[in-house]
Amino acid sequence: MIRAVGLLSGGLDSTLAARVLMDQGIEVYAINFVTPFCNCTSKSAGCAAVETAIGQLGNIPLKRVALGEEYLAIVKAPLHGRGRGLNPCLDCRALKIMKAAEHMREIGASFLFTGEVLGQRPMSQHRRAMAIIDKHTGVGDLTLRPLSAMHFEPTMPEREGWVDRSKLLGIEGRSRKVQIALAKEKNIVDYPCPAGGCLLTDERFAEKLIDYFNHCETPSIRDMPLLKIGRHFRNTAGHKTIVGRDEREGLMMERLAPPAMHLYYPVNFGGPHILAQEPYSDAIRELFYKYGKVPGDGEASIEWVFEGEKKVCVL
Ligand code: SF4
Repeated sequence: MIRAVGLLSGGLDSTLAARVLMDQGIEVYAINFVTPFCNCTSKSAGCAAVETAIGQLGNIPLKRVALGEEYLAIVKAPLHGRGRGLNPCLDCRALKIMKAAEHMREIGASFLFTGEVLGQRPMSQHRRAMAIIDKHTGVGDLTLRPLSAMHFEPTMPEREGWVDRSKLLGIEGRSRKVQIALAKEKNIVDYPCPAGGCLLTDERFAEKLIDYFNHCETPSIRDMPLLKIGRHFRNTAGHKTIVGRDEREGLMMERLAPPAMHLYYPVNFGGPHILAQEPYSDAIRELFYKYGKVPGDGEASIEWVFEGEKKVCVL
């Protein structure tokens, strides 16, 4: 039996691509990537999407890969440009395909496949972008795109007869009508909507990340969770302050606070958690007044945590 490794996001396209090949008798192994910027890593619905897809495909084998520092490095300095946010889609796709190729070799699979559809995404799924990705990965001839295969020259799996090209598809463009009809036909009934799950495409998050890169000499994925929460301010001295927006973020700030940062939170009034690179100052006090419900009777107190020590201060 011919074995193939498929990049499975849990979305409709990659699930369909797997199903199309499985219907030809290909033994499919799935690989799924999570990045520090994947919304699905922080919401159970995203993870459930991959589980659901695997279930609908008949519990095929799944390898999960967490992309860390090397991923952050390409976000900081991509070789092939970025989209509207800070999304380095071509480098991102290329890295994932190269990781999938490693898995392909490990398990003795013959080729790779993706759920990409020609013309569906503006940055990484047009013909030139796909050609760049294929050249960069060095495994372009082994990378089959079953949903759009008829728009490309036959790849090795097709030329060698490992897959029947006549049963592959020629889908193109942003409409998902064909995929939805095909899903119905193939009894794939549960799949997430296509709205983006990548924080790098969010322009406001991109601003925070650019600011981080500009002020951090040694970027690390360990710092990413704090970038995802709160209002971020940078003062003229270059120091960062983060103001939590709700109780959930406050609890996360307590958990994530680096020892070198100062954490402040209200003792006897409603207000935000504040994490700052600077010791207590009028600027911190003003933030409590701006975002909290500070009582007017002068009784407001805050707790100040720094390097493991905690003290109560009058605001
Ligand atoms: S949107 Fe994000 S996850 Fe998707 S290809 Fe672009 S960088 Fe990668």
